[in-house]
Amino acid sequence: MKKLFGVIGDPIAHSMSPVMHNDLFNHYGIDAAYVPLHVRKSNLEDAIKGFKAIGIDGFNVTIPHKTEIMNFLDEIDPLAEAIGAVNTVVNKEGTLIGYNTDGRGFVRGLTEELSSLPDKKVMLIGAGGAARAIYFSMAEAGVQKMDICNRTTEKADLLKKACPFPVNTSIFDIEGASKCIEDYDLLIQTTSIGMSPNVDERPLEFNQLKIGCFASDIIYNPLETQFLKEAKSLGANIQNGIEMFVYQGALAFELWTGIFPDTKRMKKNVLNQLGGSTC
Ligand code: NAP
Repeated sequence: MKKLFGVIGDPIAHSMSPVMHNDLFNHYGIDAAYVPLHVRKSNLEDAIKGFKAIGIDGFNVTIPHKTEIMNFLDEIDPLAEAIGAVNTVVNKEGTLIGYNTDGRGFVRGLTEELSSLPDKKVMLIGAGGAARAIYFSMAEAGVQKMDICNRTTEKADLLKKACPFPVNTSIFDIEGASKCIEDYDLLIQTTSIGMSPNVDERPLEFNQLKIGCFASDIIYNPLETQFLKEAKSLGANIQNGIEMFVYQGALAFELWTGIFPDTKRMKKNVLNQLGGSTC
């Protein structure tokens, strides 16, 4: 019987996941369909009951359901539990199990470009939902020094206190971080600043970066944010948010099928959907 997968969210029409996953199912000869499913907050519990009743094989979860859905699943993976958000659900013989592949996807995408991650001195910019997944997953991957800067420093402090893995972290406000940014090997930009249509905005100012600095921005629209443009002009190697998107999808696909898919193919597919070229 044809397998059924999907992505739930509100809104959902813009999601690039259906085209990306359907291409993979086709490529690996798996008889499956992956569909966008518009689920409003007020209907979430009923939707999950319905998915169980029809025996959906798995699904992704996006804004605004990543936290709320945890109330309606049978089991939660420990990392997702710590992060407090689920983006992937697997139906294992009727038991719905929630995972979070966002942070691990980010780390996997980063290690394609950057070796010896644990030795890097990292500045995480932002302390929202995506930052939380990345912070925990970087700490899980063995990163020892990772500071956080955020407009609301209390939120960064909460992140630090909640992390289940050992990591040495100091908290900065934006101004404080701007003053010491050249001390860091790796900058990870996780705020929504610079996202289209506000493409001229950047989360913090800097005039100098450490030699060999690597700058990552998890935004992929535009492909090169103002933050990445400025980091590149100061000699940094850069990465945009396509990798995180692709690798979170690859890890979800692996959870559903046991196959870790061709990420180059996925990246090409996503770039086609965005109508751009890689930076
Ligand atoms: P979120 O939970 O709402 O967090 C937003 C973050 O941005 C917070 O740190 C917030 O600071 C900061 N921020 C927002 N507006 C600001 C402003 N005007 N000045 C200073 N700081 C500001 O959002 P999220 O879910 O983490 O998503 C953040 C970004 O990541 C979005 O652009 C999203 O598209 C992108 N993303 C990409 C991927 C991917 O696969 N590549 C995955 C997930 C998310 P405060 O705490 O002070 O409010």
